[in-house]
Amino acid sequence: MPESVDILGLPREALHREIGALHDRPGKGEYHGDALFRALYRDGVLDPGSLPEFAANPGLARKVVERFRFELPPLAGKQGDDTAYKFLLRLRDGLESESVIIPMRWYKSLCVSSQVGCKMACRFCETAQMGFLRHLTAGEIVSQAMVARQILREPAENIVFMGMGEPLDNFDAVVDAIRILSDRRGLAIPVKNITVSTVGHIPGIMRLAELAEKDPTGFGRLRLAVSVNAPDDETRAAIMPVNAAWPLSDLQQALLHWPLRHKDDVIFIEYVLLDGVNDRPDQARALAEYLRGLRACVNLIPYNPRRDSPYARPSREKTAAFFQALMEAGQACRIRGTKGDAAMAACGQLGNRSLSRRQPEMMKAA
Ligand code: SAH
Repeated sequence: MPESVDILGLPREALHREIGALHDRPGKGEYHGDALFRALYRDGVLDPGSLPEFAANPGLARKVVERFRFELPPLAGKQGDDTAYKFLLRLRDGLESESVIIPMRWYKSLCVSSQVGCKMACRFCETAQMGFLRHLTAGEIVSQAMVARQILREPAENIVFMGMGEPLDNFDAVVDAIRILSDRRGLAIPVKNITVSTVGHIPGIMRLAELAEKDPTGFGRLRLAVSVNAPDDETRAAIMPVNAAWPLSDLQQALLHWPLRHKDDVIFIEYVLLDGVNDRPDQARALAEYLRGLRACVNLIPYNPRRDSPYARPSREKTAAFFQALMEAGQACRIRGTKGDAAMAACGQLGNRSLSRRQPEMMKAA
C-alpha cells in the first residue's frame, strides 16, 4: 500500500487535485476538497463520513481516509512564562520542532521553525550549535500552528518564521505552508501578518519577490525581515559566515527589488546588539547609511546569550545610545523586548544540542 499523504502539507489546490484523482468522475475534487479543508482547519478533524458533502459518496469518504493521514505530532515538552511559551513537537522520525507563542498586547504571535537545526552557522545563535539535521515539511510547519490553535483555542493572529532554521533554505515547504496558513477557508491568517525572517539568503529573497509579483493576492503583502546585524562586511563576516556568499552590497541590491505594495509596508531589518561588536553609535550611523533608499524599520534585539556564548548583551545605556544614533540619522527603528529569555525561548535560543549529539550520522549526511 502506498504511504499515506500528510493532509496538513497540502495547499487547497493540491488537495483538489488529490481528491480529483480519487474520484470516479474527474473534475469533482474542488467541491469535496473544499469541504474537507474547511472542516480540517475549523474543527481540527479529518472525518469525511460526517460531512454532508460526502453523504452521497461514502466510497469517496473511505478512499479519503485511506489516502490521507491527519495526526498532530505529540507535545514533547513545553516551558515558559507569561512573556513567551515554548513548545516542542515530536516528529515522526523522533526529531523535535520548536515553536514559541508570544502574547503581545493585542494579539498572539507564533514563532515557527522551518528546519531542525540550521546550516547558516551564525556565531551568536543557539540553533547553529546543533548543526543542520533536516528540513521540516510543509505539514510539519502547519502542525505547529495547529497545535498552537489547540493551546490558544483559536488560531494565532500573527506568524513569524523566526524559530529554528533558515526559511529560505527550505523554500518550497515554507511557501506551501504560507499558502495553507493564509487560506481564507482555513486558519485564515492574513499574509500581511506572516513574516519570513532570513539570514539574507539572496537567491531566496529574489524568488520570494518574484512570487509576490506573480501572485500579488497570495504573496503581495508577505512581510520580509532580514537579519543584517552589522553595517559592514568585516564585522558581519565575523559573526555571520554567510556574508562571504551573500555580502552586504548584493543584499542591498536584492532588497531594493523587494515589492512594498502598501504605503505602510516596510522591510524589517533585524539587528542583534552584541556588546563591543556591533553596538557603537558610529556603527548605527553606518547602518542608517546602508539602509538609505530602502523603506525599512530596524528591530534592535538586545542579545540573548546562547549557552557558553562568547558574546554579551550590551548595557541599557549602550542600547539606548545606538537607538538614539539611528533615530538621529533618520532611520525608523524600535527596540524589541526580550521575551522568553528565562525559558531559553527567546530569539536565537532555540535548539537542542543533545539532539545533535544523538544524531551524528544525519548531520554528516547534511
Ligand atoms: N534564519 C532566520 C530566522 C531565525 S533567527 C534569520 O536569520 O533571520 C531569528 C532572529 O533572531 C534573527 O534576526 C537573528 O539575528 C536573531 N537572533 C539569533 N540569535 C539570537 C540571540 N542569541 N539573541 C538575540 N537574537 C538572536
